[in-house]
Amino acid sequence: MARSISYVTGSQLLSLKRRPNIAIIDVRDEERSYDGHIAGSLHYASDSFSDKISNLIREVNGKDTLVFHCALSQVRGPTCARKLVNYLKDVKDDAGIKNVLVLERGFNGWEASGHPVCRCNMKPCKGESTSAEVA
Ligand SMILES: [Zn+2]
Repeated sequence: MARSISYVTGSQLLSLKRRPNIAIIDVRDEERSYDGHIAGSLHYASDSFSDKISNLIREVNGKDTLVFHCALSQVRGPTCARKLVNYLKDVKDDAGIKNVLVLERGFNGWEASGHPVCRCNMKPCKGESTSAEVA
């Protein structure tokens, strides 16, 4: 059961991303629409996160590792990760989620390290293979 939250670096996330059982949860608010995003990440804005938490759990059905991030992963990312852990604890069902992680330095750190940024307008983002990228 996921009970504690650990941090991963961008490089660690790059290798984790190759696994099919991982979901990346972007909890930034409106910045996502103009700053780009990590390919394949799901968008659950922090301002409505608590209301959408059951949708999120349905959407990540079958994934055992969730990686949260916001712009810097200092406030919104860890707060939403904590909300999810507490929610799972309250409903006494871990929904198969074993690891709850937070991306160190958030999206801004990811981009600053030169990791790939997706600028598609698809909801949800289909990942790296999209050919409909809009610069
Ligand atoms: Zn995308």
